[in-house]
Amino acid sequence: MNKKHCPFCSLDVQQSAFANKSGFMAVPNHSPILPGHALIIPEQHIESLYELTDEQIGRFFTFARVVTGFITQLYDADAYDWSLQEGEAAGQSVSHLHLHIIPRHTNDLKPDEDWYVKLQASKAIDDSTREIMDKLTYDRLSKRLKTDWLLYNSEDK
Ligand SMILES: [Zn+2]
Repeated sequence: MNKKHCPFCSLDVQQSAFANKSGFMAVPNHSPILPGHALIIPEQHIESLYELTDEQIGRFFTFARVVTGFITQLYDADAYDWSLQEGEAAGQSVSHLHLHIIPRHTNDLKPDEDWYVKLQASKAIDDSTREIMDKLTYDRLSKRLKTDWLLYNSEDK
């Protein structure tokens, strides 16, 4: 997949980012496994974790940690999952590096409904059969997260 056909390089995704820092952005997932499911994505088309310098990896995970704190607080979550799938065999559907952040609550999924199983089962981002949020709902969510993110960063922690 090259940059031209990459959904994460599209203007739509770039504009739906609710947070940006040091070349990375946080966007709500179009097809959330659970409410609050977000993605951390490099703003540039980077396919692999191995393309990042040590310094960029530090920024990537530092930003992801801050966003995770924000998301878990906003969704009043007890816990969270992180998932980074690299390569088709690992279930990566978009060949643009991304880290899933999934806020969790006790008993939010049935035992046979583990997030990883759901993540593996979720189809490619451009698959029309995939259950995705309608544009209005998605844009509203993205706007709400943007506002809350600004509030979160202005709080004394
Ligand atoms: Zn891309």
